[in-house]
Amino acid sequence: MAVPARRTSKAKKNKRRTHFKLEVPGMTACPNCGASKLSHRVCPECGQYKGETVVEAKA
Ligand SMILES: [Zn+2]
Repeated sequence: MAVPARRTSKAKKNKRRTHFKLEVPGMTACPNCGASKLSHRVCPECGQYKGETVVEAKA
């Protein structure tokens, strides 16, 4: 239920905000080069995805 902002104490507000936190993105190791990368994304180190070179690797 909606409550005027000044009726919500600092403690109540801060306790509610304990659930607001940053999440770590899903990282996996690349099967080709072993570098950590985001899952379901092309590897930024070797440019491979599902065993195929999709984009050219970094120079
Ligand atoms: Zn790789």
